[in-house]
Amino acid sequence: MTSIVLITGASRGIGAATALLAARHGWDVAVNYSSNEAAAQTVVQAVQALGRRAIAVQADVADEAQVLAMFARVDQELGRITALVNNAGVVDRAQRLQDMDMARWRRMFDINVLGSFLCAREAVRRMSSTNGGAGGSIVNVSSRAACLGSANQYVDYAASKAAIDTMTLGLSQEVAAQGIRVNGVRPGLIETDIHASGGQPDRVQRLSAGVPLGRGGTAEEIAQAIYWLMSDLSSYCTGSFIDAGGGR
Ligand code: NAP
Repeated sequence: MTSIVLITGASRGIGAATALLAARHGWDVAVNYSSNEAAAQTVVQAVQALGRRAIAVQADVADEAQVLAMFARVDQELGRITALVNNAGVVDRAQRLQDMDMARWRRMFDINVLGSFLCAREAVRRMSSTNGGAGGSIVNVSSRAACLGSANQYVDYAASKAAIDTMTLGLSQEVAAQGIRVNGVRPGLIETDIHASGGQPDRVQRLSAGVPLGRGGTAEEIAQAIYWLMSDLSSYCTGSFIDAGGGR
């Protein structure tokens, strides 16, 4: 049976690298994106060039109707998913908490936390052996920020990722007997567009001296950790976390 993975935020960065790695391992891939359709289509074509099926599916993970429509489309066009990677996430401008407003916090928690909850719920409903599903695997992409706190930059982002870690732990225990494993990856400073989107395009270079391994990581290095957790290679792991932060 073909393995199928839905990866949120797979048009760029860590999600795109995970899509390509999964395809290289023989998986079919649903490439979710928010607005950059051209980037999503490039990933789809790269997956197809590896001989696997792929579709690009637009959905803002913070919008319940769009998430439901995304899962319905994946069911119809690819089939029941084997794995979900909750990867879509955003940062914001560096600010102290005392200067942040509600609109910023709502966006951050809607996308990073509720988006992951919504997608996890839809995945569990499909994977659960009690619903006739074949089991499966969920990987939540958190951040080392959840442990470090991100003072003077984005305490809200760090807290949203800590919420994801707690969901990973609790959900893993809730669904283990239903054949579903739930694990997390906490990347450190990784070279992607996310830093420019928060107004700090040079963030990885600027902070890499403080990383014990002496450099930022690549999206491909994080994809390896995600792939290991989403596949049967990690069949005895649930509620586990891989810290991929170069020692930071
Ligand atoms: P990125 O390069 O900025 O890519 C973000 C991806 O998420 C894009 O595919 C984007 O789609 C999608 N996205 C954004 N908002 C979305 C929404 N509301 N609904 C659906 N998709 C949405 O980010 P990245 O660095 O690869 O980060 C991926 C994950 O790793 C995030 O959860 C991030 O917090 C986490 N992480 C990253 C780092 C790092 O240093 N890079 C470190 C720790 C954790 P469009 O292309 O359509 O905009």
